[in-house]
Amino acid sequence: MKKTIILQLIILATASLQSALAEDLYHEVRPLMHTFVEIKAYGTAGTPRIIDGAFSEIQRINSLLNNYDPESEISAINKAAGGKPVHVSIETYRALSDAKAYARISRGAFDFTIAPLVKLWGFNRENPGPINPEPGNDAIQGARQLVDYRALHLQKTSRAAFAGLPRSGMHIDTGAFGKGVAAEYAIGYLKEQGLKSALVAAGGTITAIGLKPDGKTWQIGIRHPRVDGSFLTIISLRNQSVSTSGDYEKFYYKGGKRRTHIIDPRTGMPVSTIQSVTVIAPRASTSDALSTALFVLGPEQGLEIIEKEKGVEALMVTTSGEIVYSSGWPQKKIIY
Ligand code: AMP
Ligand code: MG
Repeated sequence: MKKTIILQLIILATASLQSALAEDLYHEVRPLMHTFVEIKAYGTAGTPRIIDGAFSEIQRINSLLNNYDPESEISAINKAAGGKPVHVSIETYRALSDAKAYARISRGAFDFTIAPLVKLWGFNRENPGPINPEPGNDAIQGARQLVDYRALHLQKTSRAAFAGLPRSGMHIDTGAFGKGVAAEYAIGYLKEQGLKSALVAAGGTITAIGLKPDGKTWQIGIRHPRVDGSFLTIISLRNQSVSTSGDYEKFYYKGGKRRTHIIDPRTGMPVSTIQSVTVIAPRASTSDALSTALFVLGPEQGLEIIEKEKGVEALMVTTSGEIVYSSGWPQKKIIY
């Protein structure tokens, strides 16, 4: 009799230990940064609280970097353009110095001072639509004069960091890399809190850590640029990030032409040769910035740059539906 009770107790104790160790999938979606942000993580009962902390990180970074928020540090830099550099947090300083590096790598195809051109083509509006009349050459060249990432002044001492734009009218737009930076902070937080398997998806950027408890990788569907709800391909992510830039995100038609939200700083015109670009990179801020850069550069120049970057791969779909990918692109099964 006694023996059976002890055995039963042992079985019960083992079962409860197993359930305490078993990892469940926790999942939450919140509307943030003008998109939906999704966090998935395997963990135990404390995981929802950690996920909540990761969402707070996204909000914290967004409140520094969002150029549409008048209270953000980027807005402070924009307001002070033409005057003295302003004091910024280390997070803003780092995001801008990384952005400057991506601008340099892409030879200015990715340029975070693109805002005057974004505004000229109406893509600063919530629901962009055709502009009447379309911007003329003088207006385009005028706005182009204000676009130059090299002019951003960045300075850091042991105690403080500063950023400034030298000419009035210059304006930073973080649309091409801010979500990547925020996702990077969120995944960093999940890792710091001890989670081993998690994913953060913010708009077109997805970043993942670890393997699922069953040993499988996180599987990510890459959206077909013309067939809603359909995938071009499925890739595996393991401690990597992926970002897609698409001409379907924000666009309008004018005079039979599709005008999309990514603008070539070299011509001042919306890019019309690409449907989508997907970039895989070790960091979310890298994949986000470089997907926009490659959208502007196109297959030839874009892939030339990507081949030199360690751990970075790209898949591009041109306007004619041609598929091009870098030499180490992991998934050759692509259905267009
Ligand atoms: P993404 O979806 O990451 O490719 O970012 C697109 C957004 O970046 C646009 O909506 C603009 O706000 C901004 N943008 C447009 N053209 C450029 C460019 N050439 N370089 C940097 N940012 C850009
Ligand atoms: Mg981007």
